[in-house]
Amino acid sequence: MNTLFDLTGKTAIVTGASTGLGAGMALALAEAGADIVLVSRNGSAGTKKEIEKKGRNTLDVVADLSATSQIHMIVEKTLLEFGKIDILINNAGIIRRTPAIDFSEKDWDEVMAVNAKTVFFLAQAAAKDMMKRKDGKIINISSLLAFQGGILVPSYAASKGAVAQITKALANEWAQHGINVNAIAPGYMATNNTRPLQDDPARSKAILDRIPAGRWGKPDDLKGTVVFLASAASDYVNGHVLVVDGGWLAR
Ligand code: NAD
Repeated sequence: MNTLFDLTGKTAIVTGASTGLGAGMALALAEAGADIVLVSRNGSAGTKKEIEKKGRNTLDVVADLSATSQIHMIVEKTLLEFGKIDILINNAGIIRRTPAIDFSEKDWDEVMAVNAKTVFFLAQAAAKDMMKRKDGKIINISSLLAFQGGILVPSYAASKGAVAQITKALANEWAQHGINVNAIAPGYMATNNTRPLQDDPARSKAILDRIPAGRWGKPDDLKGTVVFLASAASDYVNGHVLVVDGGWLAR
C-alpha cells in the first residue's frame, strides 16, 4: 500500500513555500520522498532546512508571482537542477480586506494576478514538461470562498472561484496526457493569511462556532491530502476540488 503514496524520485514545485500551508505541504511531499523546489517572494530558508534534515534535495527560488514574467525562470531553474517537473503545487496567494463599496482596482488586480492568472500560466508551463512523459500532478490551492462569497474579500472570492474553474478546465484537457489537475479548498487555517480573523475575538468565535471539528486548521492538516493528490493513489481523480475544513461546509 505504501508504494501508492511513495514520491521517491519525484520533483515538486511548491509556490509560497516560505510559510503557512505551502511550507506544510512542501514538508509533506518531502516526507513522502520528493525533492522540492521552494518558490517564494523572499526565500524559504526555514522550509529548506527542515526538508534537508529529512534527506531530500531542495532548490530555493526567489520569484515575484504577481508577474507571469518570472514563470520561465522558475521552470528553467527546476529543469536545470532536477531535469523534470512531476508535481506542481500552485499555493502562493494573497488577500485584501475592504468593503466592496470602497474596493480599489489595485486590490482587485493584484489579487487576481497572483491567485488566478499566475496559477493558470505556471500550470501551463509545467504541463509542457509533464506532457513529454505523459505524467504529472497539478494541485491548485483554492478556498471555501470558491463556494461562498466571504466577507470584505471580493477579489479573493473571485480569484478562488477562478482557481476551482481553472482546475476543472485544465483537467478536462490534460487528463488524456496523463496529467491530473485537482484542487484543495482549505477551510479556516491558522496562518498569516487569517491573522486578522484570529486576532478579532468576535470573528474568531463566530468562525469556531461553525466548525464541527471545533478548532482552526493547521498546515499539518493538509499533509495527507496533498500527498494523496500528488501520488499514484489519485491517478483516477481528475478536476476535483477537495475540501479540508473540519466540517465547515457541511453546516
Ligand atoms: P500565507 O500568507 O501564510 O503564505 C502565503 C505564501 O505565498 C508565502 O510564502 C508568500 O511568500 C507567498 N506569496 C504571496 N504573494 C507572492 C508573490 N507575489 N510572489 C511569490 N510568492 C508570493 O498564506 P497561507 O494561509 O499559507 O495560504 C496559502 C494558500 O492557501 C493561499 O493561496 C491562500 O489563499 C490559501 N488558503 C488559505 C486559507 C487559510 O485559512 N489560511 C484558507 C483557504 C485557502
